[in-house]
Amino acid sequence: CGIVGYVGSRDSQDILVAGLARLEYRGYDSAGIAVIGEDGSLGMRKRAGKLARLREALETDPLRAGTTGIGHTRWATHGGPTDENAHPHLADDGRLAVIHNGIIENYADLKRELVADGVTFLSQTDTEIAAALIARAYRETGDLVAAFRAVVNRLEGAFTLLATHQDHPDLVVGARRNSPLVIGLGDGENFLGSDVAAFVEHTRRALAVGQDEIVAITPDAVEVTDFAGNPAEPQPFEVSWDA
Ligand code: GLU
Repeated sequence: CGIVGYVGSRDSQDILVAGLARLEYRGYDSAGIAVIGEDGSLGMRKRAGKLARLREALETDPLRAGTTGIGHTRWATHGGPTDENAHPHLADDGRLAVIHNGIIENYADLKRELVADGVTFLSQTDTEIAAALIARAYRETGDLVAAFRAVVNRLEGAFTLLATHQDHPDLVVGARRNSPLVIGLGDGENFLGSDVAAFVEHTRRALAVGQDEIVAITPDAVEVTDFAGNPAEPQPFEVSWDA
């Protein structure tokens, strides 16, 4: 039910977990983060239950520090609130992490197609189907934005999707349809959030991602396109409410 993404020069873990804490008011049953570690490998921890359980997992079994990451709080719609169903979901042999708010209505059809292709799943979520589709599209081009474009056009329903891939350690890609996504502009760092609460401690400069748009953030750039690949102009706004 909450989403946060970070690219910059600081360790992303505390920023992600603090962002998730600020989104707690929306309610959730599970939480998780994925971070591209300074050794270049993707690390992930996720737990059913409150953020305290995720924090415990991160203390007992720390992730490598890393300046790129994504974080999620889940409100289960497909599959019960278990550790396995918590997000992020990994694909491409653990090199790609995907988080999702919303419901992919045609996931059963897409799942049949993937199962016929030999893909196996670890969760009952609709989200893992999107992760597998993005991984398959990514392997064709090595371009995460192009992979998103190929996949989001096939997804029906409501989604805010975020992904990071260890081949691109300075990049987080997101997309939205019938579900919110905003960009936070920093200095040498950028944020994504399901709402501004995700990053309001760090910046008040924000851009609203439009319906059916894809955004790619790196520490120094933000690029938004529509689902056909045409450049889009996200609307700037100042976060005015009191943090
Ligand atoms: N449908 C997804 C799931 O059940 C995402 C739910 C959410 O919005 O948190 O995992």
